[in-house]
Amino acid sequence: AYVVTEACIKCKYMDCVEVCPVDCFYEGENMVVINPNECIDCGVCEPECPAEAILPDTEGGLEKWMELNATFSASWPNI
Ligand code: SF4
Repeated sequence: AYVVTEACIKCKYMDCVEVCPVDCFYEGENMVVINPNECIDCGVCEPECPAEAILPDTEGGLEKWMELNATFSASWPNI
């Protein structure tokens, strides 16, 4: 799955949300997150993010963000 990271905080350009074919973005007050169970790994959102906040979870060191995306996508509204 793809994961939204720190650069999204207080930016929320939302370009990613428009292109996701499975609508797996969820919105909190300060950032958006991706539901890892719904993401189909298409990669379309990654180049759309002006803040370069979206990364594949295959990149190292993203454990904290993977957990945050999984946790908050379960409690925030789908967008
Ligand atoms: Fe949506 Fe594809 Fe991005 Fe996953 S990789 S969040 S399915 S646009």
